[in-house]
Amino acid sequence: MHSRDCKIVATMGPASDPPERLLMLLQVGVDCFRLNFSHGAREDHARRMASIREAETKIGRPVGVFADLQGPKIRVGMFKDGQITLKYGEIVTLEGSNEPGEQGVIRLPHPELVGALEVGDILKLDDGKMQLTVTECTGALLKARVDFGGVLKNQKGVNVPTRRIPISALTDKDKDDLKYALELGVDYIALSFVQHPDDVKEARELIGDRAGIISKIEKPSALTEIEQIVEVSDAVMVARGDLGVELPPEQVPIAQRKIIRAARAAGRPVIVATHMLESMVDAPTPTRAEASDVATAVYQGADAVMLSAESAVGRHPQSAVAIMDRIIRAVEDDAEYWASLPRDMTPPQATTADAIALSARNIADVIGCSAVVAFSATGSTAYRVARERPRCGVIGLTPVLATARRLTLVWGTRAKVTDDIHSVEEMVDRADAAVRALGVAGPGDRVAIIAGIPFGRAGKTNTIRVLRLE
Ligand code: PEP
Repeated sequence: MHSRDCKIVATMGPASDPPERLLMLLQVGVDCFRLNFSHGAREDHARRMASIREAETKIGRPVGVFADLQGPKIRVGMFKDGQITLKYGEIVTLEGSNEPGEQGVIRLPHPELVGALEVGDILKLDDGKMQLTVTECTGALLKARVDFGGVLKNQKGVNVPTRRIPISALTDKDKDDLKYALELGVDYIALSFVQHPDDVKEARELIGDRAGIISKIEKPSALTEIEQIVEVSDAVMVARGDLGVELPPEQVPIAQRKIIRAARAAGRPVIVATHMLESMVDAPTPTRAEASDVATAVYQGADAVMLSAESAVGRHPQSAVAIMDRIIRAVEDDAEYWASLPRDMTPPQATTADAIALSARNIADVIGCSAVVAFSATGSTAYRVARERPRCGVIGLTPVLATARRLTLVWGTRAKVTDDIHSVEEMVDRADAAVRALGVAGPGDRVAIIAGIPFGRAGKTNTIRVLRLE
């Protein structure tokens, strides 16, 4: 039975809220939901979390949930008249202050940003619709030239692609939201505007092992340290919305490929996000270019693709998921996909767990196993096998429900909660029962089982057993 390997993430919002709609989204293929803390009140997130857990029970498989924190999104302040007009070539004043701005004067409630800017720095306003270049710095006041003009309204976003901004990836709002999201029991926390591995480490101090961390890569400064950021993260996201404002358009596909490569090399799940089927916010079918964009992410070996506005506020959330599912399956049915996947692989790390994972993949390929079954309390063994992209897919068996839910973001991995095992006989029994229950293997089929002996100790993967089902 062919199950889909690349996973689907859907953002929750009014369009996905009705319980019967939510269940339908799971039925048509959602693996993991995103709660977007940039929008909505706490009660909305709590209600959505409760609905997802209810739907999870009905669908009978683990469903992942992540809280996407707003992060230090920089915005211009208010204007006395609600807006100003920026004219091409005009010189405007920039000032770090909470006072309202006026024609020719933009005030930013971020003095630390204004203090860090230098002549030549670029500011993109309102998702790149307008652009300024800093021409003069005198103390707390800056002068900037308007490169692209337009109407700038209250609190529109500011992106500074040319500089690492001296702001932590966690604002006070994020810290409050983080606490709340952990109380709700989310499986991952997504950190916005990560610029440096220290941003992830700071969040880890607060989160501990209560949730995984997804680093959203949306700043050019993060690209220069992508390997180090990936290393300290549990997953990464190619957040093309803000990345697309910070980078020229022709650089976004290159950045996407670089981020996917870095994540795959380190065995961390990578999500490709934003504008994937954007036209489906209104239209019942995607453009062919959008279909091609989703397919490209799948060909590149992404673990997951994500819907944002399409599922949160769109008119056709269910069709968007169904179409994403069909595009992924079409790519996974293409022999060229399987031929190209290993091209992006890097050699495994010199660890027992990686050696076992690679060997399990080879065994599965040579004797045509129906699955690689990975016993794992933390999920790390399943991550390592998935990194090898075995054609038969991975079954992650774990006594920990939270681990099973986290595995919903991992390529080719289906997770099931089982009791703790204490002996090889129990290991074989549980694997046998799980693959039959999931419909991946039957009498005469073989599966490769990997586990750590003695049982019950995390991070000790050291054993492969091939099982032929009776
Ligand atoms: C993005 O920028 O692509 C993204 C996913 O983040 P947000 O939607 O929070 O801006």
